[in-house]
Amino acid sequence: MDRKHVYDKLCTILKKEDVLENELMKNHTSFKIGGPADFLVIPRNEEELKNIILLVNKEKIPFFIMGNGSNLLVRDGGIRGVVIKLSDNFSKFEVNENIVKAQSGILLSKLAKNILKCALAGFEFASGIPGTLGGAIAMNAGAYGGEMKDVVHAVKLLDMDGNIFECSNEEMKFGYRKSLLTEKKYIVLEVQLILNKGNYEDIKSIFDDLTLKRTTKQPINMPSAGSTFKRPVGYFAGKLIEEAGLKGLTLKDAQVSPKHSGFVVNLGNATAKDIIELLDVVKKTVYDKFQVVLEEEVKIIGEE
Ligand SMILES: Cc1cc2nc3c(=O)[nH]c(=O)nc-3n(C[C@H](O)[C@H](O)[C@H](O)COP(=O)(O)OP(=O)(O)OC[C@H]3O[C@@H](n4cnc5c(N)ncnc54)[C@H](O)[C@@H]3O)c2cc1C
Repeated sequence: MDRKHVYDKLCTILKKEDVLENELMKNHTSFKIGGPADFLVIPRNEEELKNIILLVNKEKIPFFIMGNGSNLLVRDGGIRGVVIKLSDNFSKFEVNENIVKAQSGILLSKLAKNILKCALAGFEFASGIPGTLGGAIAMNAGAYGGEMKDVVHAVKLLDMDGNIFECSNEEMKFGYRKSLLTEKKYIVLEVQLILNKGNYEDIKSIFDDLTLKRTTKQPINMPSAGSTFKRPVGYFAGKLIEEAGLKGLTLKDAQVSPKHSGFVVNLGNATAKDIIELLDVVKKTVYDKFQVVLEEEVKIIGEE
């Protein structure tokens, strides 16, 4: 990849200030970890996004699409090619009766607050998940008995050839922390949710209850990527880790949270290497003790 050429091309599509070179991914992830991306670009509208996709596709430049970076562990060598970040710049939404249409970069917390104002029920589960709507679709994010699959009506997607099309809930192939986007390189542009008309006070009390659960049980003030491992069938990852005696286990600045064993946290200066070494110890110990294989929920990307 000729970096100068790529930079010049990106600058024909985007404003210069939206093309960041050698941008440390630790500044863009909730783990506060990650080496430099060759380029991190922040498109401001669909047209810019589409033109970036056409460019990387035509010139075979590797790319990665990110939302709020709350489910990512970026390795210390960083990311080659182009990282496209969709967040504040793609955060318009509209509510019509019980139908909510929103752009993929909106934070779930912001969307949930506005949905509450309209007294629509069914999205409470998402209010404390610190990602964007696009990331939540890709991951079929869920909590406290709800998941995106339950509320999505349709998703507007962009493919690598610049085509824009819509997929129904069924076509999105939602599964446990996965979706159609686990297998296809599509980009979520916009999402339509169908919710239920409800009572403001009832919805607010569910919100408050879930917020309290999160703040008391999860280390939400520490840098992390949420639950480190997927729930193995028939078990809870956090419980297995705790029963294996690993709660609080610390390797340099990487730590199995003493508050919730399902979370690995960064105490300040952990590298991706430290976190991955800790994850390996956790996986091996849990396997040796219970013969259960733990699989990462957090997406590990980039170069060592
Ligand atoms: C404290 C904490 C608590 C958490 N609690 C929960 C929880 O209760 N439930 C839960 O499910 N998760 C939880 N998470 C994990 C995380 O918030 C979710 O996975 C979230 O959906 C990720 O969204 P994001 O925008 O940050 O995506 P990113 O982390 O930026 O990306 C995640 C994946 O989504 C893809 N992606 C992002 N945007 C798009 C797009 N527009 N189009 C296509 N693909 C896209 C990326 O390529 C990547 O594969 C938690 C994380 C933290 C830090």
